[in-house]
Formats: sequence, structure tokens, C-alpha cells
Amino acid sequence: MLPTQPMSPTPSADSLPIAGITPLTTLDFPGQLAAVVFLQGCPWRCGYCQNSSLLPRSTPPEYQWQEIKTWLRKRLGLLDAVVFSGGESTLHQGLAHAVMQTREMGFRTGLHSAGIYPDRLRNLLPVLDWVGLDIKAPEADYPAITGVEGSGHKAWRSAAYLAGSNTAHEIRTTVHPDQLNEAQLIDMADRLVQLGIRHFVIQRATFARCMEPDLKTCSSARLSDQQLSTIGARFPHFSIRDAL
Ligand code: SF4
Repeated sequence: MLPTQPMSPTPSADSLPIAGITPLTTLDFPGQLAAVVFLQGCPWRCGYCQNSSLLPRSTPPEYQWQEIKTWLRKRLGLLDAVVFSGGESTLHQGLAHAVMQTREMGFRTGLHSAGIYPDRLRNLLPVLDWVGLDIKAPEADYPAITGVEGSGHKAWRSAAYLAGSNTAHEIRTTVHPDQLNEAQLIDMADRLVQLGIRHFVIQRATFARCMEPDLKTCSSARLSDQQLSTIGARFPHFSIRDAL
């Protein structure tokens, strides 16, 4: 008889680098009272990033997962859901374990992601109740925003997985007028519709919070709400908001 291969264990959530939490929000998982758990680290460097302190992988964590679990048990009945965010939360292999444990505690589970690891996102979808996925630009234009070649292919593959899943979701696009123009937005919106995306959000970048000094001001004209709404009319659900 052939020796059986040992199954690779699910990486533990205990090593997750938890940078912080938001104890209660109604903004991060539509229709739910949610807590947000922020994970440290992101491999991309978008100039308009509004969470630059979360980007380095080496920053020591503020919390251990066991502490968060203890806290969450006390929130049962008070919170509906837990959202994992970042940085890029799918950077960490232990995320799946944390999501499963969160469901076992009785919470709904949500995820914010830029779609940087499409296969990990696909594997997580069956245990996620909602995903907010950032799509930043048409595929070819991604490196100008993220600083990373090939980033657009990954993000758009994630969008395709999400569109083909049963997980509730929204696609959101942050618009800094110096980085994304109307023609690019229309191009992306049309492709999202082709994928079957039904819920689209345009987030206006807050210039002062941008990581890249050149983006703290804006030299291009802002698109009006009317122009944005015309683009958004392609989708059954569309809204405009300031970047989270
Ligand atoms: S905007 Fe998102 S993907 Fe881009 S650097 Fe910041 S956390 Fe990473």
C-alpha cells in the first residue's frame, strides 16, 4: 500500500498581525452592525492609499487573534458581523482560519480586499457573507496606480471570481482625478457589467490623506456627481461616497 500523504494543515490564525479594530460600524458591511479587524501589510503601493500605516509587513501587531476572539465572544448578540480589512487581509494565510472561527462563533463574515491574491479570495468565498472588492482601473492601467506590474490581471481575476460566486458583494473604485479619468471609468464600468457585477460604488479620494505627496493636491478637474451617476446608471445598485 502506498504511504498516504499528510494533509497540509490550515495555517493558524494565531499568527495574524492584527493592527487594530473598529469596534462598531454600520459602513463597512452594508445593513449590518459590524466590527472591523485590520491586518497589517500590503504588497502594493497605491499613491492615494489612505491607510499607509498599515502597509509595512514588519510593523509589530497591536493584538493577538486570541485576544480578538475573547473580545468577540463578549459582543455576541450586539454585533451582526466581523469584517477583515487591511492593508490587504488576504496577504495572510491564517485569514481562512480566522474567518471560519468567526463564523463558528455565530457572526456573519465580511472582507475588504484589493483582489491581490485571486486564488485565496476564491477559496475564501464559500465562508464569506459579503466582500467589498477594490477595482482601481482598467487592467492595463493598474501599474500606474499600484506601482506593481501585473497587478491589474490579479485584481480583475478576483472580480471575475466574485461575480461568479454566490457571495454578496460590492465593487468600489477610488477616484483621484489625476489618476483616473472619465474614459477609464467608463471602460471599467462596461467590463464590470459584462462580468455580471450589479453593485458599484465610486469613492472620492480624500486628497489630504493620500500617501503620495503629489496626490495631496489635484490638478485635474473633478467629475461631477452627474457625470459619475451617468456611469453608475449601468448598474442596478450604484452610489458615490468618500473613500473609507
Ligand atoms: S490602497 Fe489598498 S491595495 Fe493600495 S496600497 Fe493601500 S491597502 Fe494596498
